[in-house]
Amino acid sequence: NGLQVAIDGPASAGKSTVAKLVAKQFNYIYCDTGAMYRAVTLKAIQQGISLDNEPEIAKIVKESKITFTPDETGQKVFIDHHDVSEAIRSEEVTNSVSAVAAIAAVRKQLSAQQQAIAKDGGIVMDGRDIGTAVLPNAEVKIFLVASVEERAKRRYKENIQKGINTPLDELQLEIEARDYKDSHRKISPLTKATDATEIDTTALSIDQVVSEIAKVINS
Ligand code: C5P
Repeated sequence: NGLQVAIDGPASAGKSTVAKLVAKQFNYIYCDTGAMYRAVTLKAIQQGISLDNEPEIAKIVKESKITFTPDETGQKVFIDHHDVSEAIRSEEVTNSVSAVAAIAAVRKQLSAQQQAIAKDGGIVMDGRDIGTAVLPNAEVKIFLVASVEERAKRRYKENIQKGINTPLDELQLEIEARDYKDSHRKISPLTKATDATEIDTTALSIDQVVSEIAKVINS
């Protein structure tokens, strides 16, 4: 059936890029759990719901259906059958998502959905709490890190390709702020599982990271 592979780490450490490639190499499903938190955040913003209105945001999760379909770039994300793959990457969503992800009822429901997606194995799931909370029994746990300067540079390059030109120092501040919020929330904060393999990707190429993870999977 295949293993459960959990990939966690701070913002812009390259999790989704390598997770997609690892999934492809092993013919596993890929699941981007951050996209689920982002989709809920987008819908709350669109409905004009304040980010501290916990009951209303919990209601959104309860009443929405988030789905993924594979495509050539990895996967598309839908909420209530609307393709939100691009919209969930906006600056507004990025800067708001940590507040939504700190809400207990939101985490509870999305974690249960993630566990259902992963239950048969053969999956690479990336996020912040996969190895610690969502799939504590995953056979493979990876914790990806990179210096904040390197992560800001990677984001900068990605943005340029999309025609966005946010200054590098602004991106670095945004990454640091999000990591701080994700590491300091009460419920399943971003932290390395004690049994995770940490890989520092600062000086590694994408292929090198993928092959390091493949080694752990095959060991
Ligand atoms: O991975 P990505 O940067 O798209 O995640 C967006 C946000 O979703 C994170 O900053 C975090 O607040 C939240 N998240 C989470 N738990 C996960 C995945 C993402 O809290 N498993």
